[in-house]
Amino acid sequence: METKSHQQLHIFFFPFMAPGHSIPAIEIAKQFASYSVKSTMITTPLNAPQFSKVTQNSKQLGFDHEIELLFLQFPSVEAGLPQDCEQYSSATTQEMELKFFKAVTLLEPQLEKVLSKHRPHCLVVDALFPWATNAAAKFGIPSLLFHGTGFFSLCASKSMLIHQPHLKLSSDSESVVIPDFPVEITMKGSDIPAYLKLNLENEFTKLFKSSKDAEERSYGVIVNSFYELEPDYADHFGKIFGKKKWHIGPVSLYNKAAEEKAGRRCIERSVEEVHECLHWLKSKKPKTVVYVCFGSLTNFSDSQLLEIAEGLEASGQEFIWVVNKEKKDKEEWLPEGFEQRVEGKGLIIRGWAPQVLILEHQAVGGFLTHCGWNSILEGVSSGVPMITWPVSAEQIFNEKLVCEILKTGVAIGGQQWGTFGDINVEIEASVKRVAIQKSVSLIMVDEKAEAMRDRAKELGKMARRAVEEGGSSFKDLSVLIDELRSL
Ligand code: UDP
Repeated sequence: METKSHQQLHIFFFPFMAPGHSIPAIEIAKQFASYSVKSTMITTPLNAPQFSKVTQNSKQLGFDHEIELLFLQFPSVEAGLPQDCEQYSSATTQEMELKFFKAVTLLEPQLEKVLSKHRPHCLVVDALFPWATNAAAKFGIPSLLFHGTGFFSLCASKSMLIHQPHLKLSSDSESVVIPDFPVEITMKGSDIPAYLKLNLENEFTKLFKSSKDAEERSYGVIVNSFYELEPDYADHFGKIFGKKKWHIGPVSLYNKAAEEKAGRRCIERSVEEVHECLHWLKSKKPKTVVYVCFGSLTNFSDSQLLEIAEGLEASGQEFIWVVNKEKKDKEEWLPEGFEQRVEGKGLIIRGWAPQVLILEHQAVGGFLTHCGWNSILEGVSSGVPMITWPVSAEQIFNEKLVCEILKTGVAIGGQQWGTFGDINVEIEASVKRVAIQKSVSLIMVDEKAEAMRDRAKELGKMARRAVEEGGSSFKDLSVLIDELRSL
């Protein structure tokens, strides 16, 4: 995968401290390393385990150059947080989340120091760190912004931010059409993410606005998507953004070794544990298992988890369900005798699941997802239809893409979501067991959904083609690296 030029490029990557941001950033850094680019990941000491596997093994993984780690000390205490709070998910109240973002901005002097010392050729920076673009500019270092979402939601967010269409509504239950958008997409006022409603003037609207301003100052944007998935929106984004953009995804598909995929986030789970669910899947017929997972941050109430359990059982389908809870003697969120009744038919994974490997398994035939962008792309890449249940951030736009444009999913009809800054607010039982049961049966076995399943399969093939030699994302990545070399 060598390109013509052998000039040693050195790129810094600086992802936000949450798995949905660090996982794709690691994948991108690995791709850069495979092009003989020296890649350095900036993180904080307590976030290091997520990165250490790839940094320790980069030679074994076949990269010419090692991926290095560089640490900034996270100013938790200065921002009023407990000392060990360095990951977004460990900010367990809304107040702590605000302090977390404050702590993040306090990293600026440390970032400046390392940029001034190492003078990398480019900084690939998370869109949640808008101030970092200024820090890089001080040293004449170009920044590439990484939003971690797709073109559809980038375009929709931009339109909402510019036009503020909710201001024309007299109530949140009325609907608007997304202005200046390639197709007609209708949204209820209450569906528009709060961080896009500038009249609310809170820390999150400010953060999002500064992130968009940073986009203007950046050299360009890296997008974890592939052209064939959302061509109209990739083109539209090019027009409204007016800057350079490269689509280089799905980055999860670049990950070749199974062990590497299993340990994408951390090395806490042993290989045996990882193999337990894969072993279980081996005993299942193709396309018979629905995989249920709500990402790394979703916090459902016990009553909502109970509805999910009842709905899954009533669907009669086999399932793997990832629940962000530790095993306890008495579990309020599980119906009496649930695990005994579903034994052999359903598997609950408490904690972290090897999601990519599960989704890629031939036994998996559907995905109930919270619509985090990484999960959506991983579902698309695996060619499975999805049940969409957005809970926060830009996930509502991702649902629209899957259900209304790609037509490879069904919306479950969730009514409650947050923005950033309330990931820890427990989500009450807005989705009832009947809706869960019906949508699971629909995507898994209903004849009516056959066309949807076929389309999903086709998209999965397109995703794989995009990252193969000569594919659209493969080409865009080498164009990007050549361009960085020529700067
Ligand atoms: N993930 C995983 N195992 C889990 C939960 C999540 O491997 O048990 C991974 C998933 O594959 C994805 C990332 O964590 O790559 C979550 O990112 P996403 O954008 O889907 O959602 P977020 O967690 O940011 O809400």
